[in-house]
Amino acid sequence: MSRDQWEMLCDGCGRCCLHKFEDEDSGEIFFTDVACRYLDEETCSCSHYNSRQTYVPNCLRIDSDWGDKFNWLPSTCAYRLLYEKKSLHDWHPLVSGNKESVHLAGISVRGRTFSDADINNEQTYLHVIEWVN
Ligand code: SF4
Ligand code: SF4
Repeated sequence: MSRDQWEMLCDGCGRCCLHKFEDEDSGEIFFTDVACRYLDEETCSCSHYNSRQTYVPNCLRIDSDWGDKFNWLPSTCAYRLLYEKKSLHDWHPLVSGNKESVHLAGISVRGRTFSDADINNEQTYLHVIEWVN
C-alpha cells in the first residue's frame, strides 16, 4: 500500500486527536472529550496536518508496524480494524462513497469536544467519556 493509499484509509473521525489516559497496570485506554487545539471542530481534521509535529511534537504518525500500539486508537479506527483483520464499517467513506457518512453516523467527534486550549490540564481526567470504545 502506498503512503497515499494508507492515508486514504483514515475515516476522518478525529477520535485519535482526543486526549486519553492509559491504565499503567491493565493497559486500558480511557478517552476524554478534550481535543487537541489544532483539531478543526467542524471538519474533524488537523488544521496543520503536514507540519503538525512542529505544533505538537509528540503527535504520532500511524504506521503499519505499530503492533500493540494500535490499541491506543479507538476501536472504530480503520487502521486498528485493519490490524485486527476486521472489515471497515458501513459508514466509512471508502465504503459509503460519502465523506460525510462518518459524521452522519455519529462516529466523528464533531460538536462533541472541548479544546485543550480551554481546559486546565489537571482537570482533563474529569472529561473521560464512554462514547469512544
Ligand atoms: S481515529 Fe483513525 S480513522 Fe479516525 S481520524 Fe484518527 S486515524 Fe483517522
Ligand atoms: S496536531 Fe493535528 S493530528 Fe496531531 S493531535 Fe493535534 S489535531 Fe490531531
